[in-house]
Order: sequence, then structure tokens, then C-alpha cells
Amino acid sequence: MKIFHCSHCQHLVFFENTQCVQCGRQLAYSPRSDEMLAIDPEAQSDAAPEPAVRLCQNYVEQGICNWAVDPEDDDPLCLSCRLTRVIPPLQHLQSVGLWQRAETAKRRLVVNLLALGLPVRDSTLGANDGIHFEFKEPQAGQVVLTGHHEGTITLNLLEADDVLRERLRAHFAEPYRTVLGHLRHESGHYYWERLVKNSPRHGDFRSLFGDESADYRLALEQHYGIGPREDWAEGYISAYASSHPWEDWAETWAHYLHMTDTLETAQGCGLSMQPQREDEPRFLPEELGQVMQSPFETLISSWFAVTYLLNNLSRGLGLADAYPFVLNSTVIAKLRFVHDTIALARESGTPDPDREAA
Ligand SMILES: [Zn+2]
Ligand SMILES: [Zn+2]
Ligand SMILES: [Zn+2]
Repeated sequence: MKIFHCSHCQHLVFFENTQCVQCGRQLAYSPRSDEMLAIDPEAQSDAAPEPAVRLCQNYVEQGICNWAVDPEDDDPLCLSCRLTRVIPPLQHLQSVGLWQRAETAKRRLVVNLLALGLPVRDSTLGANDGIHFEFKEPQAGQVVLTGHHEGTITLNLLEADDVLRERLRAHFAEPYRTVLGHLRHESGHYYWERLVKNSPRHGDFRSLFGDESADYRLALEQHYGIGPREDWAEGYISAYASSHPWEDWAETWAHYLHMTDTLETAQGCGLSMQPQREDEPRFLPEELGQVMQSPFETLISSWFAVTYLLNNLSRGLGLADAYPFVLNSTVIAKLRFVHDTIALARESGTPDPDREAA
């Protein structure tokens, strides 16, 4: 993700901020102009004929959002919040907290998808088509499975509880488990149906990822019952990716989103790595150009350098590796397929109605 500045005092602010720490003004992210708007308290007051910036209803009433709504838009919710169709009961503060974490991760996903030129809504199919989310907190005796079905991404909100998620991560012996990672993964299933299924790319998909008509339920039963195939590291980004071609695609897709989002941030921060030795990881932000449209080779070599730095810094802080994955040539070929699929979609698609032309 790019970096942001307060539109009033130009101080550096985070995407998640609701207030500028320098000038104190309330902030709202505008998905249309892709900037952080500082709110002038006078122009926004009840005395003003019309608020200068319309804030998302979930910002004002629930405190779980920090986005603005386009002035011409009559939806009370911002572009991200309106994609959520199910939220937890809000009587308990804990539920609101879980919901807030899920929405915060989702907003980052939405901006990442828009930056890649992927339509988040489908204006050709009507307002109800596109990607949607159900954030469900399991009630007594209820099981909520995180997954995707026909454009709806369901997240078990307990995944936003750090203790429970860490327990699951250890139980499944996974090196990485985050709410954002879940949402990125599930969005992969959605875009597979939209961009790969029955497209001219479907055959190439099968050559790389395998035949997705293999029994999905059985594959997952085997994965959770007897564990992943022993040689998974040779051809898959994660053990779970080896369970079924759909999961392989979704895991690879999620990694592509990790990569592009993080590289854009590194570039935006002005990071540059010029090692003492020629053969060591090098990162030159100017070589990347516009990250979301960079050639695949440039992205991947930059990603090697940035993840090397990320992991080295994590170790210095006594933390686990921030990016605990190995990209071998088979996995890189799959990432390239994701890259090409997105590039084709961007070139052939119509611009998203929610974003001004760059
Ligand atoms: Zn400011
Ligand atoms: Zn919102
Ligand atoms: Zn999946």
C-alpha cells in the first residue's frame, strides 16, 4: 500500500488512523481519491449547511471504520463496509472489537484489489454482484467455517481473537495465520471463478496447479485427517496449498497480494537496499516503477530483497520471521500465472466505478 499524509498539515499518517497526531484533525480515507482527508471541524459542524466530508455510518456510529463516502453516493456506508452483509450481534464489546479487526483487515484488502485494477463490485451485473463478506461470531453450539461460496466470503470472527488464532496456528503447525491472510486467500477463490474458470486460461491453470475437478471435500478430509503430502515444500507455497488445486491457487493468490501490497509500502517509504556485495539482495525502488504494473521479474527480485530484510529485522527483535515462506521455481511459476491473470483482467476490464482514473 502507498503511504499517506494528512491533507491539512501533510504529516505522515497510517492508513488505519482516525486522527492526525500533529494537527489533531480527524481523518477519513477517501477510496475515490485514494487519500487521507483531514476534516475541518468548522466545515463539519452541525452549524455548517452540509458536512464537508461524509463519513461512513460505521465510522460515526460504531467506531469500526475510518472511511469517507463519496458526496454523490446515497449509501450511508463506505465502499468497504457496504460489502459486509452479516455482522455479529453488537451487545458485547468483545464482538464489536472482533468485527473492527476484521473490517480493518478487509479495508486493506479492498484497497489492494482496487490498486491492482481488479473490480471489487461488478457494475455490469448490478449493485448486488461482486464480492461480499459475512463476519460471523459462532454462537453456542454453532460452527462457522471460514470460506468462500459464490462471491460471499465468510470469516469466523474468532479468527480475529489473537489467542484463539494463535492456538489454531500452532495446532495446524502453520508458520503464518492472520485475518488479512485469510481474507486475501478467500478473495482468491472469488477471483478464480471470475478470471480463470471457463476462461482461455483454464487449461494453463490445470497444467500448473492441477485438475480442480478432483474431489474437494475428500481432499480436505485427507489434508486434515492424515496431513499434507510429505514433499509439499517442493511445489507448493504452503502445506495447505498442496491439499487441492483450488487451495493452491488461493494460497498463491494471497501471496501475490502480500507481495504487491508490501512492495508498494517499501517503495512509498523510500526504502532502498544497496548491498556491499554484488550478489546480495538489492532493492532499488525506482526500478519498480508503479508496483501494481511492474514486470513480474522486477517484482520477484525486489520481493526477495524485501523479505530478506523483513526476516532479518524480525530476528533482531526476537520475533518469528515476518515472511516464513520459501519461493522455489515451481511456486514462482504459479505466482507468475497469478500476475499474468491480474494483468489481463486489468487490461481487458472496465475501470472500477469506485476509483477515479489515475
Ligand atoms: Zn494533520
Ligand atoms: Zn465504512
Ligand atoms: Zn481456500
